Amino acid sequence: MNKYLNQLVKLSEINKEIDAFEPRVQKIQKTLNVAFEKAKNANTDIELLEEEIKDSKLKKMKNEALLAELSEKLKSVSKKTASVKNEKEVKALQLEEDIAKEQCDYANEEIARLEKIIELKEGEKVKTKEVYSELQKAAEEISITVESERNVIKEEIAVAYAKKEELVSTMSQRILSFYEKIRKWAHNSAVVPVRKQACYGCFMRINDKTNALVVQSEDIITCPHCGRILYREATEVA
Ligand SMILES: [Zn+2]
Repeated sequence: MNKYLNQLVKLSEINKEIDAFEPRVQKIQKTLNVAFEKAKNANTDIELLEEEIKDSKLKKMKNEALLAELSEKLKSVSKKTASVKNEKEVKALQLEEDIAKEQCDYANEEIARLEKIIELKEGEKVKTKEVYSELQKAAEEISITVESERNVIKEEIAVAYAKKEELVSTMSQRILSFYEKIRKWAHNSAVVPVRKQACYGCFMRINDKTNALVVQSEDIITCPHCGRILYREATEVA
């Protein structure tokens, strides 16, 4: 293969390698984000449960205060009943007592209902706290793995760049700028193989003359359709 073409194929491979690092970094970062997001959601659930418990406890306290009031009222009604003179007054007090007792029943029912809610939510809170600490632990473990993976990638990037620098230093400036010009629009498919007499950049069939030149590999040949640099793969049987 022509020396310049050979360099271009190598450079193109290194550039592909370099560009493949970013998606890898993003992927591991995403894994980490998802893990911490899960833990964060569990923590939000705990906060919500705490709010609900607080709210129920407040309602329970209000009902307890109401019960105390009603009990005072019942005492005073019973006192009054002892000193009333006529039937009408007795009836009125009786009615007052009935209403107060009904209100007591209702308040007691509410307290029982709220206590059940509080107990349930407390149980949920304990469970969610366990889930949260597990998720947090998992996220921290992932964080350690991610950190070491990041370091591995960093080293690989450094190696790839060193390789690129070394190669570029030996290349002709003219060839390089020709390649970079194509790369501006073709990105990592600036240098493509010919397979089954088709350009692997635009996938159009190339004519016999161009194909013969590519097979000879003596010159830098571009695709007549798209302008990408073509080369013959070592394994490709012409
Ligand atoms: Zn093409």
